[in-house]
Amino acid sequence: MLNTKLSKIYLSPPHLSGAEQAYVDEAFQSNWIAPVGPHIQAFEQEMADYLGVNGGAAVSSGTSAIHLALSLLKVGKGDRVFCSTLTFTASANPIVYLGAEPVFIDSELESWNMSPEALERALQNASMKGNLPKALIVVHLYGQSAKMREILKLCHHYEVPVIEDAAESLGATYYGNQTGTMGEFGVLSFNGNKIITTSGGGMLVSNSLNALDKARFLSTQAKDQAIHYQHSELGYNYRISNVLAGIGRGQLKSLDSRVMKRREVFENYAKAFKELDSISFMPEYKGSFSTRWLTAITIDEFISGITSEEVVNYLNHHQIEARPVWKPLHLQPLFKGTEYFSHQPGVNIAERLFESGLCLPSGSNLTMNDQQRVIECVIECLSHSKDREAII
Ligand SMILES: *Cc1c(COP(=O)(O)O)cnc(C)c1O
Repeated sequence: MLNTKLSKIYLSPPHLSGAEQAYVDEAFQSNWIAPVGPHIQAFEQEMADYLGVNGGAAVSSGTSAIHLALSLLKVGKGDRVFCSTLTFTASANPIVYLGAEPVFIDSELESWNMSPEALERALQNASMKGNLPKALIVVHLYGQSAKMREILKLCHHYEVPVIEDAAESLGATYYGNQTGTMGEFGVLSFNGNKIITTSGGGMLVSNSLNALDKARFLSTQAKDQAIHYQHSELGYNYRISNVLAGIGRGQLKSLDSRVMKRREVFENYAKAFKELDSISFMPEYKGSFSTRWLTAITIDEFISGITSEEVVNYLNHHQIEARPVWKPLHLQPLFKGTEYFSHQPGVNIAERLFESGLCLPSGSNLTMNDQQRVIECVIECLSHSKDREAII
């Protein structure tokens, strides 16, 4: 029975600081309620400065930023694009929008992100067949950077441009570099569940200012320089609104404190579950600084006698929003039959993480009381596990 007396604890809700309001008021007072206006340029500049990259183009979503990055790299019909398999479908959907074919690359256990071993085999294989990918999309999952040194080295060798999907990792670093700044393009998302939000929005970041100008052109319907609406190229309507860019400017001010808070939430879970042999935490790979956007754990079913799915259901029954780890894209019905390279022959890491993994409530506004409730609920669930009937 669903306990409706308890208030719901969300996985990763928006967290406003109050600083957003002044920017929104300014947009209203100046009547810049449009997909142009002073907040947009300022938001782009402030984000670029924060990341240490030359520039950004603010758009309507992270998905549209990926679509633009692929368009700028001239991905089209019949091309192939390599992509991490352990991610949200939005990482790969724009490949299909462009008539190209995704090829999915497995994870490794040290970062849960793209396996350089799998990537190397995939690139060797493609090189031999003469069908190297037009681009690669590497995801930084749950606030944790992928092994970029190895990945960039391989992509450089085969001359494959890299798009970093940093939608979940804004604020994370890898040997001192912000995620999203190491490849040709970086993609950020400001969806409602992300570490900072504009309710919906995204940004394409890059060191190539020319490419970003082209992205702005494509994102505003690709109008030629003429008063009479002339178009030589296919464009999109992807620009962010000035009001939302204002929210983003306010949110960006508290990004560092949001990162520290999410890491603190992680630490609290780690301390609370230290004695539980069946729980392991997503690692923080050496040289990297994770934002811990979501605290992700795995449950060893052989020790606990209970699956991660059962734990997720138990928590949800107690008004606690928990989610399984992303279902790998090569297992999605949408991508049935797509080429996929496992970590090692016969060793499928993303599948294993999906089967045993789950994400716990991790919001930067999670109270101590609510976190305690989550902790107690997980412990209670695991202690009942010998008696599965009692669980749900
Ligand atoms: C959220 C997310 C996206 C998509 O961002 P939107 O702004 O929602 O379009 C892309 N990739 C990953 C890994 C995400 O988590």
